[in-house]
Amino acid sequence: MQTTNVKAFGTPAADAPLNEMKIDRRAVMAKDIEIEIMYCGVCHSDLHFAKNDWGMTNYPVVPGHEIVGKVTQVGSDVTGIKVGDFAAVGCLVDSCRTCPSCEKDLEQYCLNGWVGTY
Ligand SMILES: [Zn+2]
Ligand SMILES: [Zn+2]
Repeated sequence: MQTTNVKAFGTPAADAPLNEMKIDRRAVMAKDIEIEIMYCGVCHSDLHFAKNDWGMTNYPVVPGHEIVGKVTQVGSDVTGIKVGDFAAVGCLVDSCRTCPSCEKDLEQYCLNGWVGTY
């Protein structure tokens, strides 16, 4: 799989501080958009996740799931968003979009599982 090495702010371990680091990102796929992150909030759940307080963190981790940026690439199946647009991302980046919860715009209750931002 093709990857791109990018700058990020994260941590390699629960007992290490947040710091600038390099991570590999996979290539943009058909239903993805890529954004250049301009701003990102860091909330309490990001800090718990960075410290593995909930026992489910995979390291390295780049916390932050309230993201705003400019679109730099769009996948071949993406409609309604183009390069140069602004985009925002919350704590979920995908769900099945077909279950009863998703059909009611309640993706956080997706019956087939949702995909978290990190
Ligand atoms: Zn949050
Ligand atoms: Zn669903």
